[in-house]
Amino acid sequence: PLVLSIESSCDETAMAVINGRGEICANVVATSVDFHARFGGVVPEIASRKHVEAIVGVYEEVMAQAGAHLGVDTLAPSDLSCVGVTAGPGLVGALVVGVAFAKGLCASTGLPLTPVNHLEGHLMANLFQTPDLQPPFVASLVSGGNTMLVHVRGWGDYQVLGATIDDAVGEAFDKVAKALGLGYPGGPVISKLAARGNKKAIHFPRAMMHSHDYSFSLSGLKTAVITYIEGENRAGRPINLPDLAASFEAAVIDVQVAKAVTAVEETGVSDFCVGGGVAANPQLREAYRKRFGRMGVRVTVPPMVVCGDNGAMIAVVALRNYRAGVLADLSLDANPNAHLGCWSSDLAPVVS
Ligand code: ATP
Ligand code: MG
Ligand code: FE
Repeated sequence: PLVLSIESSCDETAMAVINGRGEICANVVATSVDFHARFGGVVPEIASRKHVEAIVGVYEEVMAQAGAHLGVDTLAPSDLSCVGVTAGPGLVGALVVGVAFAKGLCASTGLPLTPVNHLEGHLMANLFQTPDLQPPFVASLVSGGNTMLVHVRGWGDYQVLGATIDDAVGEAFDKVAKALGLGYPGGPVISKLAARGNKKAIHFPRAMMHSHDYSFSLSGLKTAVITYIEGENRAGRPINLPDLAASFEAAVIDVQVAKAVTAVEETGVSDFCVGGGVAANPQLREAYRKRFGRMGVRVTVPPMVVCGDNGAMIAVVALRNYRAGVLADLSLDANPNAHLGCWSSDLAPVVS
């Protein structure tokens, strides 16, 4: 079977086609990121309108690319077995564009429709790196909107151990970048600066590092960084951007690693993986590899191309849902607050 996936939960309009072995035939991402840059964060209204503008073109492109991959001119809906769409969580005005498009496509072609959980997509992106990944394992989901530690007890059996009580990790990167006038998104630019900075240059707080639970708090760190910037500006001292970036990142990473280690020890698992846009951070990846390497715990991070929002990770979940019979009718609505586990199944996903 061929499965088409549609993703529009934030500022990426993305679609993919995969086959029944989970192989990617096409993976197309259009982003409205440039239109948000001068605001220092995603503007929901703009994201929504850009999805409307982009969605037909992305559909035509993914069908053409998948066709070329399979040696035909372009794919037709009749070549597909199922359409999967991200129905949540995310920005409601962005989600509804993808959901409406998917419903229109299914209504006009008779194709079955399956709802996909965006966070389960970020989690499943790890299968492109480690196809034999098997529960139980611990996963850290770190993105623009979420920061949580999850004990994956079985497929579809997600125990959220803890989450952020305020900002998400990606959000902290974005807000620090905004305070420095570095645009949006903040993650890539901050991590590039941090790579050549001294992480011990400035001490920032490691909030909740020893709170004996799996909760996170990032807003105090963000405030500490902004206070530091303002102090240096007032004193007329130039800010060493690489040192600041490295010191900020180290404060984030120390807490992430400490809690992940405790979670792995407490659950007794031997696999750990990371999902979400922040999983692209090289220093975070390295810190996990180093720390867990010493413990004999296998670390998986998704390939770079499927760290940020993309259709391929959504297609993997859609294929599993289709096989498991997790389907929706045309009354499907976007659910901006969908929890991990919503629209899931205990069937193992397939990825070649
Ligand atoms: P969610 O998945 O929670 O709905 P989202 O879809 O907006 O949120 P993603 O697209 O998964 O989030 O990730 C985007 C976030 O990842 C942004 O906050 C961005 O700054 C961050 N990010 C991207 N690359 C890096 C990096 N190298 N280091 C740190 N953060 C990064
Ligand atoms: Mg994005
Ligand atoms: Fe995301």
